[in-house]
Amino acid sequence: MVDLIGQYAKIKDEVKEELNKVLDNASFINGPAVHAFQADLENYLKVKHVIPCANGTDALQIIMMAYDFPKGAEVLVPSFTYVATVEVIALLGFKPVFVEVDPHSFNMDVEDLKAKITDHSVAIVPVHLYGQCADMEAILAVAKEHDLKVFEDTAQAIGADYTFANGQKQKAGTLGHAGATSFFPSKNLGAYGDGGAIMTHDDDLAAKLRMIVNHGQSERYYHDSIGVNSRLDSLQAAVLKVKLKHLDTYNAARYAVAQKYTAAFEKTEVIIPPFESAFSNHVYHQYTVKLTNAAERDALNAHLAERGVPSMIYYPVPNHLQKAYAYYGYKTGDMPLTEDLCARVISFPIHTEMDTEQQDHIIASVLSFWG
Ligand SMILES: *Cc1c(COP(=O)(O)O)cnc(C)c1O
Repeated sequence: MVDLIGQYAKIKDEVKEELNKVLDNASFINGPAVHAFQADLENYLKVKHVIPCANGTDALQIIMMAYDFPKGAEVLVPSFTYVATVEVIALLGFKPVFVEVDPHSFNMDVEDLKAKITDHSVAIVPVHLYGQCADMEAILAVAKEHDLKVFEDTAQAIGADYTFANGQKQKAGTLGHAGATSFFPSKNLGAYGDGGAIMTHDDDLAAKLRMIVNHGQSERYYHDSIGVNSRLDSLQAAVLKVKLKHLDTYNAARYAVAQKYTAAFEKTEVIIPPFESAFSNHVYHQYTVKLTNAAERDALNAHLAERGVPSMIYYPVPNHLQKAYAYYGYKTGDMPLTEDLCARVISFPIHTEMDTEQQDHIIASVLSFWG
């Protein structure tokens, strides 16, 4: 699905030089590379604070630890997302309230969001799924009206721009009260191991988050709150500092691959290519289509595998029907649009190193399924 070896080959010298600096100084924890990457990412995202941490799941958890939400408080979250978004809500003793999907954009449906707000709601966690922003202007308006916090999960959309109705643009992850991202190797900005970060414009929140990632201390051995140990290590920061310089080029390469796929697939009646929202560009973390006939999906997957083409289902089971969350009492039929998407979507390989020949082979392999 990705070509991390091919990508590394092109930036090997730059990466090794930065890694060697860390090794030569043995500055493995909170070294200069971490501070340099943090500053570079703040500049790139035009956000006041970036707080690096160990992974994207931690980033989401740490944000929610920074607020004094009561146990049982409701956090609105799409059911159609990676489990990490939901997991941290449940883990902290809050209640995930699942919101339906907009079946075109694959993101949170704003009308259903409004319908699910109660007196116990405290926050909304929009997920910018597959690389395109949720309808943030509408979500922020709903949040303001009901005095809710907005925490963006931008693990799949780093570098995407959201455009407001007045033409103002802002980077995904910097629109709400805080944003969380992941540097998992296959993400658009991927490290060579785990990593994550939190973004916020809020000085007080940033100070709190910096304490929480570091065992709840701002002065060593004085613990003002219960924290965690969640750090981005210097070697990963060194890699990310190099790769951040290439992020726009990488996202453009993904976009070009997506355009070629869409040109081939939109002519068919069996594949519905991804929809691009007017208010966000798409950085194509995944290239995910819908099949007209859900019953063909397993056979298509097998057909592609026989031709050496991987394909994946993100995600086969919606979170509201996962065993782990049965406690919250959802049942099949509660979210028909989400359930239908889970039966219908399939993702094809997309990455920064895909050449024309590879892509032609993938397109031909897909289309040959229908003869
Ligand atoms: C990858 C991902 C995460 C979690 O990131 P990790 O770094 O793997 O913890 C959270 N949310 C979404 C939508 C993701 O794709």
